[in-house]
Amino acid sequence: MVQFRAVFLKRTVLVLAVVVAIPYLRGPLYDFPAETAFAGAELLNPYAALTDPWQRANLHAHGRVWSGLTNGRQPDAEIVRAYESLGYSVAGVSNYQRIATDDGVPTMPLYEHGYNLGKRHQLAIGARQVSWFDFPLWQTRSHQQFVIHRVAETADLVALAHPAARDAYTTADLRQLTGYHLMEVVNGPFLFEESWDAALSAGRAVWALANDDTHDLTDPRRTAVAWTMINAPSASASDIVDALRAGRAYAVSRTNEIASAVETVLGTVTVDNDTIEVTCEGEPSTFIFIGQNGVVRKSVKEALAATYTFGHDDTYIRTVIRSPRTAMFLNPVLRHPGGERPPLVARVDVGGTWRLRAGLVLAGATLALLFRDRRRPVPALPPRQVLAPADRKTA
Ligand SMILES: [Zn+2]
Repeated sequence: MVQFRAVFLKRTVLVLAVVVAIPYLRGPLYDFPAETAFAGAELLNPYAALTDPWQRANLHAHGRVWSGLTNGRQPDAEIVRAYESLGYSVAGVSNYQRIATDDGVPTMPLYEHGYNLGKRHQLAIGARQVSWFDFPLWQTRSHQQFVIHRVAETADLVALAHPAARDAYTTADLRQLTGYHLMEVVNGPFLFEESWDAALSAGRAVWALANDDTHDLTDPRRTAVAWTMINAPSASASDIVDALRAGRAYAVSRTNEIASAVETVLGTVTVDNDTIEVTCEGEPSTFIFIGQNGVVRKSVKEALAATYTFGHDDTYIRTVIRSPRTAMFLNPVLRHPGGERPPLVARVDVGGTWRLRAGLVLAGATLALLFRDRRRPVPALPPRQVLAPADRKTA
């Protein structure tokens, strides 16, 4: 019986090891495009054509799924009802590896991807199908890139969730990775501005998202504290996706620094020659203009409008508006050479990938051999002359 159990355990461990190893054999090696700061004579303003109404959105909330295995406390439909009653027009439900709309929940098709130790999670926005691929244990930068590409295959947009939680994506990773569109610059009470500036400073044009990431609607630290204002004609999934892709949105964090009945909102962002003008509606606020490597270039206090003139060493300028109740993180105005800017794409290094796979197979085979040798039962020896009891050694 004991022996049977040992064999069973050994086989289970072996099967698990093989299952875990498979994604690592599948994962290619990538060549990443060089880090290149935004450059060019033109300025790209994502807010140049603001005509539509603003939609208030939360795209990260967890309901009770997988029989309570993942820890959302309330049913999906309750999340939608709760956010709609708070004035949100987009009440996203982003369960792990499950699209709530497939279960008939009236929300955006959306899910949170990822089941790995490093907490590298992505929001698949406008998801058509769940991607089940992940590297559950360690992830190199190439692994991270492969997962982003896999998630992007069956969704309109990919956003990196809580990018620096548990060091999910280091700033060095974010200076290299491509193929995703957005990043949670605000996740509940946490800010990830450093992560964002790392990507932007390396010429990766990715936009900001702010989400609650609530697992429990009764937790005030995680409910209605972070949201994204999206400039879209309607709250339909396609309008929201188009606006997010173009950067016609801004991320908001509730700070409640000063008691105020008024919620200040973004007015306009215009660019005239090399000068950006940003306005807000509501109460006088502080405007902070931030550029390459996250350096604060200028701030203006107690104002409803502020301007910043691009210097020739400015590559991008993003604005943060600190109002009495909120901090608003605007998408950057970027330097641009004009015309279509081809997107930066990490490409598979075919030769390197096959060398890596060969190495992994070799390492696996060596381990398996060692494992076998150690565990091989001692072959039965032919019967031999047994020593007389008197010749036996005694301990
Ligand atoms: Zn997550």
